[in-house]
Amino acid sequence: LAVEQHPVVVIGAGPSGSIASAILQRKGHQVLVIERQEFPRFVIGESLLSHCLDFIEEAGMLEAVRNAGLQIKHGAAFGWGERYTEFDFRETYTPGMGSTYQVRRAGFDKLLADQAQAQGVEIRYQEEIVAVDNSSGKPLLTVRRIADDSQYQIQAEFMLDASGYGRVLPRLLDLELPSALPVRKAVFTHVRDCIDDPQFNREKILITTHPEMRDVWYWSIPFSDGYCSLGVVALEERFDDRPEDLETCLREFVSEAPNLKRIFKHAIWDQPMRTLGGYSANVKTLHGSGFALLGNAAEFLDPVFSSGVTIAMRSSSMAANLLDRQLRGETVDWETEFAKPLKVGVETFRTYVEGWYDTSFQDVIYYENPQPEVKRMLCSILAGYAWDETNPYVADSRRRLAVLAELCRMQSQ
Ligand code: FAD
Repeated sequence: LAVEQHPVVVIGAGPSGSIASAILQRKGHQVLVIERQEFPRFVIGESLLSHCLDFIEEAGMLEAVRNAGLQIKHGAAFGWGERYTEFDFRETYTPGMGSTYQVRRAGFDKLLADQAQAQGVEIRYQEEIVAVDNSSGKPLLTVRRIADDSQYQIQAEFMLDASGYGRVLPRLLDLELPSALPVRKAVFTHVRDCIDDPQFNREKILITTHPEMRDVWYWSIPFSDGYCSLGVVALEERFDDRPEDLETCLREFVSEAPNLKRIFKHAIWDQPMRTLGGYSANVKTLHGSGFALLGNAAEFLDPVFSSGVTIAMRSSSMAANLLDRQLRGETVDWETEFAKPLKVGVETFRTYVEGWYDTSFQDVIYYENPQPEVKRMLCSILAGYAWDETNPYVADSRRRLAVLAELCRMQSQ
């Protein structure tokens, strides 16, 4: 096979790949991205957090994103029966970007990839990584061209795996680790929403807790074009006694939540139905000789707080900056300068995801008289600032959440 030489190869052109490759390119490194699909392509993950705009800015793409006509998102709302709570991302403990966006990922990911390309990154679409030999310390990647099934190889100094649900290096280098979270499944679609409910705020994601099954929740993510992403998430076994037909199944779940039944009463269901399960995943290590894992190719927790793209972009920024130093000849330590600091935010989100499902965090969210300062600290995390260790709900998340949940429960009685 023909062997090409490239300093940096990035696997995948989703948000992780585009942000990492653009940052490296801006620092003067030639980057090649290999992407299996043709863009635009569908992927789930449509509600962004404020903090991810910091990385879009670092990658030189903020103006393009601001001019793309995307749905503004000012925060998150939570509904459970009659209870309703809003968080405004412009009121966070950690100073930051404030408002962010809700996006159809097909167009958004293409925008980011095009922006990376415009800055000099080479992206090869419809080519996939099928094998990796990392035994010499210098990765040798085998690429298959999907159009004609031909193959070639790339010898790289370093590879960044941004393959998302493709999980290329975890699979090929035997790095997979099962997630500690139970297996859940989502059923979702886009609806022409026709919402006329005056209480519904298009500028926030709405997370709804199922009236009786508090581990079952729904997302409603409005876009700027009159459509809304609508989905339900539940443990896999909760779907056993539900209709097999996905639309009937989702309609049934929606009809059980009075707020959603009201909000979507005029909705037109004219888009394909989708389902995705077993998406939580983990890995043995985030890095090794000649490689690092970014975004969903590494660990993915859970969709409830829309943290996926933000964690993905944060990992890309951290890895790109560290790799820049390494390629300039500095000795860097991927464990203490990448893996450990990245995990600070991942562990913060883990606390609140677990607290969502054991209902301790739900009791905090739905508590009616929160202290404004505590609310700002929690809002900060929901806006993505989960790495700010001056925030006690980041630095000491488990203990703080447990104490706060206890207080909220006592005062609600
Ligand atoms: P991806 O966006 O998956 O991109 C990876 C790319 O790699 C793809 O384009 C793929 O074609 C390519 N690829 C794969 N294999 C290969 C290969 N062998 N060779 C070459 N290329 C390859 N996140 C949020 O921030 N907000 C949300 O509201 C949200 N909702 C979610 C809802 C659900 C139900 C789920 C499961 C996840 C949700 N997420 C959300 C998470 C979000 O989907 C991911 O975190 C995000 O897409 C990760 O981006 P990425 O760049 O790492 O991977």
